[in-house]
Amino acid sequence: MSCLTVLDLFQKNSDIFALPVVNSDNIPTGLVDRKVFIETFIKPFSKEIHGKKNISAFMNTDSIIVDHSATIDDVARIIVDAGMQHMVSGFIATNDGQYIGVANGLDLLNEITQRKQANLFYLAHYDQLTNLPNRLLFLDRLDMAIIEARRDKTQLGLLFIDLDNFKHFNDSMGHGFGDKLLVATAARLASCARESDTVARLSGDEFTIMQESPTCQDDINALCKRVLEAMTLPLQIMGREVFITASIGTALYPVDDAEPTGLLAKADAAMYEAKRSGRNTYRHFIPGMNVYSLDRMTLETDLRGALERNEFVLFYQPQIELSSGKMIGNEALIRWQHPERGLLSPIHFIEITEETGLIVPIGKWVLQQACRQHMLWIESGLEPMSVSVNISAMQFYQTGFCEMVKSIISDSGIRPIYLELELTESLFMHDVEVVLKTLHTLHDLGVKLAIDDFGTGYSNLGYLKMFPIDKLKIDQSFIRHLECEPVNVDIVKAIAALGKSMSLELVAEGVETDDELDLVISSGCDSVQGYRYSKPLPADQLESWIQKRNQESAISREAAPA
Ligand code: C2E
Ligand code: CA
Ligand code: CA
Repeated sequence: MSCLTVLDLFQKNSDIFALPVVNSDNIPTGLVDRKVFIETFIKPFSKEIHGKKNISAFMNTDSIIVDHSATIDDVARIIVDAGMQHMVSGFIATNDGQYIGVANGLDLLNEITQRKQANLFYLAHYDQLTNLPNRLLFLDRLDMAIIEARRDKTQLGLLFIDLDNFKHFNDSMGHGFGDKLLVATAARLASCARESDTVARLSGDEFTIMQESPTCQDDINALCKRVLEAMTLPLQIMGREVFITASIGTALYPVDDAEPTGLLAKADAAMYEAKRSGRNTYRHFIPGMNVYSLDRMTLETDLRGALERNEFVLFYQPQIELSSGKMIGNEALIRWQHPERGLLSPIHFIEITEETGLIVPIGKWVLQQACRQHMLWIESGLEPMSVSVNISAMQFYQTGFCEMVKSIISDSGIRPIYLELELTESLFMHDVEVVLKTLHTLHDLGVKLAIDDFGTGYSNLGYLKMFPIDKLKIDQSFIRHLECEPVNVDIVKAIAALGKSMSLELVAEGVETDDELDLVISSGCDSVQGYRYSKPLPADQLESWIQKRNQESAISREAAPA
């Protein structure tokens, strides 16, 4: 904006001898005399207008005087409201009663238009929280980059990054905390990327990095490792030390896809694979991985009638007692038999059910179904085993939750001792009084209470002592990746020691290999759950699995020397 001084104005327009000042009602409130202005104008005059809110005065038809708190947009409004776009040649700007200059009106309008346009562009293309490019701009840049790569015959790497357990932080510590966590994450991701790479925030806790011209898969792997490595350092947020990890999926242009949205969908599919592999890791897309369109809206619409259409099924994953090798229980895990997309894992839809409240009726169905199945197995002659059901925070906080559990127990006939509710740590961070009351009511019913994904949230474990908890399920991210993160061995041992000191039962989740099983045994866990024994299975297949296992152990008993 070019600024003329008032002096210039008077000097350039020798016919202006005095300039009237009017208020917003066009009532004259003062007069600026050419002579007075030149000698003593600004201080005494602006004192007069200073402090009067909404003062919008114009001098003659050429200039307006605004109060020091006016913004450039206020000035624009005054000009436009007064219908004097063409007449204004300048305005006097004061700051704390001090004259700071006169601006040319047309320049001012141009400036505002440009700013508005820039602002609109910014709003449409950048994420306001992290200042990173948003999905729209990212796809646009990806599009451009693909055109260049096609021309130059180079490759493009795409990383799809999703934070693990972000929702837990957001739910328990509040959105302000969650926002700060996202901002800090954005800065970390940006620090891992090169200048030629584009880091963007797609939505929620989903980020992407576009890597320009990686020459081989190793270049992409190196970037993934840098990101995971950077995430391992603790973050300081609102006076707390926070640890958060990420799961990354990658896809490569042109090998995996030649279109921006296809490439993104494939990186996303690979990200789910990383989540399934225990989180805090990366996976590259390979053909055969389920690629879903990223259309959350249709998923949400489809979810609304899914319960009525009977599209949910429960799978059950065995839990093995380490001392006896016996199967002592199972965890009920929901699946969605989607009419077009096939069998969907809960990672694709549970969050949506939680955000929309659909988890309340769906969660109730899961509880009913799991208890019914438990009774069916007993009727078919299987030894009673406990069944664990995942409970979302929203269900837990519903009024009448305990009554619902009670009536499902009595309707199904399950002995409460065989029903176990899995709750996540984040749930305990809310209103302690309410949580305590609910937990005691549940405990008094006779059901068992377990903390799921233990170790992923908080450093403050004091709450454990307060609550009537029976079990800790050590999160699978500690069990897995032992070979690359030996520190996990110490963490598992520390959690196990803590649990033991509080007489809690310990379950290790996600045990896949013999090495992992050895660690779990040596650290003192009581039972395990994981692919090492079995993936989650439909009810009938679990029954056959148990029968086969029983037969095998009978044979090995017979074969063993007396
Ligand atoms: P979770 O409660 O931590 O359940 C364990 C998840 O780890 C299951 O994934 C299981 O299939 C997987 N898993 C078990 N052992 C292994 C292993 O050795 N290796 C690997 N890579 N994975 C293993 P799933 O069934 O996809 O469920 C994901 C999450 O969805 C569950 O995590 C739970 O938080 C949620 N969920 C599942 N069913 C329900 C439900 O009925 N209600 C609610 N609220 N949440 C549910
Ligand atoms: Ca669970
Ligand atoms: Ca778990």
